[in-house]
Amino acid sequence: MKCPACGKDLPEGITTCTDCGTMLLSPASVTIDEIMSNEQYRTIKELIALFVGIVCLILIFYFGYY
Ligand SMILES: [Zn+2]
Repeated sequence: MKCPACGKDLPEGITTCTDCGTMLLSPASVTIDEIMSNEQYRTIKELIALFVGIVCLILIFYFGYY
């Protein structure tokens, strides 16, 4: 993204321009929403991975008795 005041290229998620100090409120709030949804998505993926791991362990124990 670019600073609206001085036009400097800035990294995503930054709240203040590092060059001129302009507050970048509206783009930052959109970025925070994106980070939140990514965090939730990551947590769901981790839960699915954990569930699959538990199912695999149960299957290994179950077939281990034969
Ligand atoms: Zn600036």
